[in-house]
Parts: sequence; C-alpha cells; structure tokens
Amino acid sequence: METILSATGLLTPGVEYGRVAPLADDADPVKAVGAVVPVQTHSLNVGVLTEPGQSFPDTDALITRLRGVAIGVRTADCIPVLLYAPDIEAVAAVHAGWRGTVGDIVGVTVSRLEAMGADAGRIMAHVGIGICGDCFEVGSELAVCFEDAGLGAFVLPGPFTDRLTGEPMDPDRRHIDLRCANVSRLLRRGIPEANISVAPECTRCSEIAPGPCAASVAGSGMTLAVGSEGKSAARSGVRLPSWRRDHGTTRRMLTWIRLREECPS
Ligand SMILES: [Zn+2]
Repeated sequence: METILSATGLLTPGVEYGRVAPLADDADPVKAVGAVVPVQTHSLNVGVLTEPGQSFPDTDALITRLRGVAIGVRTADCIPVLLYAPDIEAVAAVHAGWRGTVGDIVGVTVSRLEAMGADAGRIMAHVGIGICGDCFEVGSELAVCFEDAGLGAFVLPGPFTDRLTGEPMDPDRRHIDLRCANVSRLLRRGIPEANISVAPECTRCSEIAPGPCAASVAGSGMTLAVGSEGKSAARSGVRLPSWRRDHGTTRRMLTWIRLREECPS
C-alpha cells in the first residue's frame, strides 16, 4: 500500500505513517496495512515489539525498532499519537482516550523510549485525528478528573454550538480538548514544540477528502483518510469512525507508523 504523509505531519525521511478508515463495519484496516496492533483496554501499558508476530494483550502503546514493520492503534474519537526517536531509530504508536490522557500514557511511552536510550529533545511527535474540544462534551465528574490531573487548562468554558447540527449544546456540560492535553503532556516530557504536529481534523465533525490511495484499496472497503489538512472537506468527503456520532459503532480508524526498510542516507 502506498504511503501518504500529511502536509503538516511528522515529515522525516526515516519514517512513514498514515491512517486508514474503513467504510464498512466488517472491513479491517489492520489487515489492509499489515500492522501490529495491541489489544487496547485504556491501560497505561506499553509493549515493545521485537519480532513480528508478537501479540500485546491489555496494551495501549507499542514501540518498535524493527524496520519495515508497521505498528498502530485503533481509534474512534480517542487520540492516536505517533512518536519517532531518531537517535535510537524507534517508533511508537499510542492510544490516548480520556483515561490514557489523564494517566499520561504518552509520557509513559516517552519514558520507555528514554530508558531505551532516546533523547526526549530529539523525539518527533504527531498527535493524530481524534475528537475536537467542541465535540467532546463531558460531565462535571470527568472535568474534575482532568483538573485534578493538572489538565484544567484543557477543560473548556462553553457555550458550544454542535458542529454537526448547528444546534446549541447543553450549557451545563463541560468540554475537554484531548488533543491539546496530550500536546501538553509531550511538552512536559521535554519534547520541543517545534517537533510536535497536530492533525486539525475531528473524527466526529470533520469530513475528509478520500486520499489518492482510495482506488487501490477500494475492493477492501477501505479509504485512506489523508490530505486536506485543516479543511472541512466537501460534502462528498468521508466521515471518520466516531463513537460519539455513531453510537455503538464498531468501525475504527487505524493510525500507523513504521521505520522505512532502508536507512535514509
Ligand atoms: Zn469535532
């Protein structure tokens, strides 16, 4: 499968990454990419893939130094975070929902990379497509949970207008910006701001123009959610899997990363 790099993303010659969003419930983006994906449970457990074929129960972040082997995470509103540590040639894929954000799974993953010899000041990070703050409406208990975790800055004051319907949202509910909360976690671990990119799209309210790879994987019911960074695409665009929008959906987007087979010269 061809690889697409986002315009604002983790652009570096040693790494390739992408996202795949299935159009049908039974399509499996993991198979389409051939990625190793953990059995995610909203834990703070980090696995290290040292040989292809390993499995990772109860794990929400993966690290590998294997070249040419894609690792990834499945999401439907949660935040996928990709990391690249060039000094030790390692990549990581992290699943950060609200529990993982409060528990700092990106920080735990950065610590693991540091234990493997990485300098946090050289790590590059991409905070991928997840739910936006406007769409992530929560109860006051969860807001307090974020405040207690030092993430009060990412509990947003309302009022909000529903970006899907244009209707006013419940003024008594709070909103949380999960993406920026994870950026703050990365900054606190010493990753330079210049090394962090954030995908602006939202799984719930954005439509994404089908990527140039859509045709090549059409038979598998897949389309690639790439391109058109920062734009709300035309109505013919693709809706990404969203738990909040499509209650109970089994569709998941795969966000993956791998070290290129060949060392860049
Ligand atoms: Zn949104």
